[in-house]
Amino acid sequence: MKPAVVKRSDSGILEDRKKSIVYKVDGCSGNGIKCDSDSVSGAVSQRACVYCGARVVLNPITDAFHIVHGPIGCASYTWDIRGSLTSGDDLFRTSFSTDLRETDVIFGGEKKLTAAIEEVMEKYSPKIVFVYATCIVGVIGDDVEAVCRTMSEKYNAHIIPVKSPGFSGNKSTGYKMACNAIMSLIRNYKTDKKIKAINILGDFNLAGEIWIIKNYFNKIGIKVLSTFTGDSSYESLIRAPEACLNVVQCAGSSTYLAKQMEEEFGIPYLKVSFFGTEDTTSSLIRIAEALGDMEARAKAIEFTTRMEREAEEVIKAYRSKLQGKKAAIYVGGGFKAISLIRQFNLLGMKTVVVGTQTGSKDDYEIIENLADEDTVILDDANPAELETFMKEKGADILVGGVKERPLAYKLGIAFCDHNHERKHPLSGYEGVVNFVHEINKSINNPVWKYLGK
Ligand code: SF4
Repeated sequence: MKPAVVKRSDSGILEDRKKSIVYKVDGCSGNGIKCDSDSVSGAVSQRACVYCGARVVLNPITDAFHIVHGPIGCASYTWDIRGSLTSGDDLFRTSFSTDLRETDVIFGGEKKLTAAIEEVMEKYSPKIVFVYATCIVGVIGDDVEAVCRTMSEKYNAHIIPVKSPGFSGNKSTGYKMACNAIMSLIRNYKTDKKIKAINILGDFNLAGEIWIIKNYFNKIGIKVLSTFTGDSSYESLIRAPEACLNVVQCAGSSTYLAKQMEEEFGIPYLKVSFFGTEDTTSSLIRIAEALGDMEARAKAIEFTTRMEREAEEVIKAYRSKLQGKKAAIYVGGGFKAISLIRQFNLLGMKTVVVGTQTGSKDDYEIIENLADEDTVILDDANPAELETFMKEKGADILVGGVKERPLAYKLGIAFCDHNHERKHPLSGYEGVVNFVHEINKSINNPVWKYLGK
């Protein structure tokens, strides 16, 4: 039985959007939702553009330079709004823009781009430069690839074009363009030499999360070679082809890269999640098993049992304060939404609305199976839809990102940032404890009393 396409609160929902919103119906088999497609024109969805998707993946490379070839407005999407941390270089915190103006649009921007690359190379001599083509560059037709090729030869450096005009698809297209850019770097270092080590894909070291996960691997005796792209560098990335397993945390952004690495370097991949105790434990054990390392597996079981017990103490202390509360989830990728539903279940909370910007059919199938009956499931939502369904379902808290925060506060609903602006880690067992504290602080904040809640 398929889930029912939106029918109850559908006043004000655009006709073309209705297939992307479903109510979970008991016994549904999933796949009833329209997703993984371009946004509906005029719907003003929460999803970012192709360029922003590419930036999400590439920006955390700590010693890379990022030149945004376009008007200055595009360059506003930078480190400041996606604060991945570094243990080494911090070149990635500075962005460059060619600041295209009207005359450049008329006469072309290639000269300006050439001058920008020359300036960066002569002042900083970086080993990698990413050049992002934005909307206007797609319209005027600058040959960004030719400029990058000429400059790479001139400076003997990796100056890599990223084909990311905002209109050329959706945020997922941007992820793919970023993965292509990474492949164009690392395929130069293809090797038959293999070592017993893993690469972590799809973790961007927000609030230092990759350090938490690397520490777990260290404890169970698994070596991490490269991380894509949180806290990575040119030197660490080019060693990636030597690994014997890729683990993919953010599947939406990095499965495409994992597939290419499997095809070209013969590295198999495993989808994992380090959000929530259940997913963290199963991921660590599955990774040890995939490596065929029984010693690491035994250590993982011992370690995860202890860590789960400690986290459960905290969860237990808060369960009575949170039991029965209703959560709405609107996040970037499907894997995060899935882990969040599980975390709310553990807290005794009910997920009443759940959606993602870039979830796939497979993700939604899992979401539909995990969700309670009558949960609203929506893909690529806009603020009006989120408002409609959060009100209809009486959500007590919204878990989302920077763009959803004002919406929650305006509606007098508690909010938890699970996206790039946060300053505390939500990964691993430490992340579970932070998450529970934050959910409690927000839902049970005394301020709601003054709003008559
Ligand atoms: S690339 Fe296009 S859609 Fe994206 S920020 Fe720039 S102008 Fe806006």
